[in-house]
Amino acid sequence: KEKPKAKPKWLRVKLPTGKKYTELRSLVDKYDLHTICTSGSCPNMGECWSEGTATFMILGNICTRSCGFCGVKTGRPETVDWDEPEKVARSIKIMGIKHAVVTSVDRDDLKDMGSIIWAETVKAIRRMNPETTLETLIPDFQGNERNIDRIVEVMPEVVSHNMETVRRLTREVRIQAKYDRSLEVLRYLKQQGVNRTKSGIMLGLGEQENEVIQTLHDLRAADVDVVTIGQYLQPSKKHLPVKQFITPDQFKKYEAIGLDLGFRHVESSALVRSSYKAHKHID
Ligand code: SF4
Ligand code: SF4
Repeated sequence: KEKPKAKPKWLRVKLPTGKKYTELRSLVDKYDLHTICTSGSCPNMGECWSEGTATFMILGNICTRSCGFCGVKTGRPETVDWDEPEKVARSIKIMGIKHAVVTSVDRDDLKDMGSIIWAETVKAIRRMNPETTLETLIPDFQGNERNIDRIVEVMPEVVSHNMETVRRLTREVRIQAKYDRSLEVLRYLKQQGVNRTKSGIMLGLGEQENEVIQTLHDLRAADVDVVTIGQYLQPSKKHLPVKQFITPDQFKKYEAIGLDLGFRHVESSALVRSSYKAHKHID
């Protein structure tokens, strides 16, 4: 069995600091606001928050799926909270967020797979924060077009759906998902007139360079505009092990390849998470 390697120095992060960060941190604590940035202790908080970007998760904290890389709990999800759209919109207002990323657990248990709450959340955010731009990082909705249409209809500036890994590793990394179905969702979003589509992959799960490049090709063939590439880190011992730490030069190489392929934006470095620098991906 492979021994986990020690974290290389480029993965060591400084604690977030800065006036804006401290301000937001105290608001988040005071009003008990829920962002993924804090619950996942994301290394980019200092940077994202000072730029006015944060990520919010809807539809509860328990997922019906059990991806091997993901720290979210699996099980029987909570009942839908119809006040959630208003709560998220209010959090965004209190924090003064300029660009909000909204994502959710997968709700394969619901008939609409959560797409109605999704649309209501976007509408509530727009009502309360007319200046705030939005990225919706959506599940695959099992490829169901009616559900995807609900997102398209409320017109978020960016709609993203993550491939997470290369074709060969998809079964192992996200057991209930399918590589081609995810590509199809991204292609469909663009066909329906979404302005910016986006996807993300994590590296270090055992993929080969040619497989990563193939995934970039596949995403471009689905007309995806933005791609994020970051290092996978194991959330706990129960999750998939890190097979490899990708070097900064290798990340740069993928960035150059991605830009050559015609992506509008490529974020590729070890600490990139799918919402990192998300405010830049609107144009
Ligand atoms: Fe939050 Fe995403 Fe930025 Fe991390 S990368 S701080 S989760 S917005
Ligand atoms: Fe995590 Fe999303 Fe997979 Fe659920 S579907 S386990 S939230 S990555």
